Amino acid sequence: MGWEPIRKRRTGPVEPNLVDYERVYAGFSWDEARSQLTGLPGGGLNIAYEAVDRHAAGASRDRGALRCRGRGGHTTELTYDELRRATNRFANVLRELGAGKGDRVATLLGRVPELYVTAIGALKNTSVYAPLFSAFGPEPVRERLRLGDVRVLVTTPQLYRKRVAQLRDSLPALEHVLVIGDDPPAGTRSFAEAMARAGDEFTIPPTSPDDMALLHFTSGTTGKPKGAVHVHGAVLAHHVTAAYALDLHAGDVYWCTADPGWVTGTSYGIIAPLTHGVTVIVDASDFDSHGWYEVLQDERVTVWYTAPTALRMLMRSGAELAKRYDLSALRFVASVGEPLNPEVVVWGQEALGLPVHDNWWQTETGAIMISNYAAEDVRPGSMGRPIPGVEAGIVTGDGDGVTEVGDPEAVGELALRPGWPSMFRGYLHDDKRYAESFVDGWYLTGDLARRDPDGYYWFVGRADDVIKSAGHLVGPFEVESALMEHPAVAEAGVIGKPDPVVGEVVKAFVTLREGHDPTEELRAELVAFGRRRLGAVAPKEIAFDQHLPHTRSGKVMRRLLKSRELGLPEGDTSTLEVGR
Ligand code: AMP
Repeated sequence: MGWEPIRKRRTGPVEPNLVDYERVYAGFSWDEARSQLTGLPGGGLNIAYEAVDRHAAGASRDRGALRCRGRGGHTTELTYDELRRATNRFANVLRELGAGKGDRVATLLGRVPELYVTAIGALKNTSVYAPLFSAFGPEPVRERLRLGDVRVLVTTPQLYRKRVAQLRDSLPALEHVLVIGDDPPAGTRSFAEAMARAGDEFTIPPTSPDDMALLHFTSGTTGKPKGAVHVHGAVLAHHVTAAYALDLHAGDVYWCTADPGWVTGTSYGIIAPLTHGVTVIVDASDFDSHGWYEVLQDERVTVWYTAPTALRMLMRSGAELAKRYDLSALRFVASVGEPLNPEVVVWGQEALGLPVHDNWWQTETGAIMISNYAAEDVRPGSMGRPIPGVEAGIVTGDGDGVTEVGDPEAVGELALRPGWPSMFRGYLHDDKRYAESFVDGWYLTGDLARRDPDGYYWFVGRADDVIKSAGHLVGPFEVESALMEHPAVAEAGVIGKPDPVVGEVVKAFVTLREGHDPTEELRAELVAFGRRRLGAVAPKEIAFDQHLPHTRSGKVMRRLLKSRELGLPEGDTSTLEVGR
């Protein structure tokens, strides 16, 4: 079914930042855009300075920077100057602990004020901030703490006891654990006490745009997680993309619903909005339709950045519900992380009076790369057009060489020309994998897409086997490895099974070892086992299969498992194991 473009009224309450896409795209230069940032007083560029200190030194000093709505109804508000001082304190805490430039500081936290203070304080200290998803089980937490050589971890006593304490011996690099709240468990110390002892003045050391700033963990098809390295210079892309794709203006009230354990929660939940001097709303509660509309209404949110799964859940509770709330302050709605079906874009127009603007990017790109814009008509189902300063293409080929597809509309791999400031600068400890991401002058994204004759990009699917569930990227290998640690499991193949709300659910096919029967009890035990090890990324469904399909080289063919699950033709099976 074709969807009509959603035409924009040309007059809104605020003049959009990007009004003439073609003209701005043609004339854009990152060097010129650099003047939108301030730079450290002594030269150099530090994300934390751009996000906080430069505002605290100016007219926005007493403006709200963060409004954190806690679970119990308690709100913590920090002005830009208060955030400057709190983050100075945390930078001093790190210094006192002996953590310095390049040392990794991780959080395993939900949406609490301390997470924001840790992230920005670590950046001030030129340490590297690495967020961890608080719903991960001990296995993924261990892998990431180890891969990241994390030295300092900030978490809660509960999460520490459940996810970290039993791993501590296997993590020699982890020297300090700070916990929020009273009663620090053995081997940890109190965050609040350390902060109380620290001074609130701190001079950011010289920082180069090429200094490592952020470490984000992501997943591929094979192997353990990858640590994508980002640098302080990325802040230019955070700032510019938030102006163009999210239409942020100083004074906006902005709510990003992404979990702070993933890249969107850092790039657009912390850095980008603060660089614009907006008030960032943080809501600690779990999803609930009424609660979300209440946040939008009560905080008078003007710009809202959310995700397809959440929007589909709101859609399920009906447009009528939205209309019971006063959403008149809302000016712009954007979505990211997974395919946004056109129905949701159109529903936005009906329920919120605003279309949803889809945009596309990934952990490696660090910032939004393709987007729909405030002043442009929206084509429902399209991710939009490249951000000024970003050159995108559709290519075919493989690791030996790629070429751009000639035909408009032909499907190929979405690729980007290296050079934007937030491009990842490495996979930690894996130079080979990093080098393999670039072929013939393109960065290959792993996504399949097409571009229409007007230059709009349309998402088609992943070129690999990674799974997107409720917006979270799940590596099948990590799930398979965890399941294979169960004594009954000989082998596992893991796929994403399409789901109307969360996009995909994780489904595992397992081959049992001899002597184990495929009973309902065992199935339930495996689901629980997965959940204990992996947390929220564990398989929701498990099927027994004593004849998993293999390639000739012995790998489980996840693609085939998926085609079978969907009842699709099995395609090319020439690499299937002989005799099966
Ligand atoms: P992550 O690195 O976890 O942020 O995941 C990035 C991946 O999410 C991309 O490579 C896409 O597969 C998917 N993704 C992100 N944004 C979109 C979008 N707007 N439409 C479709 N898929 C998306």
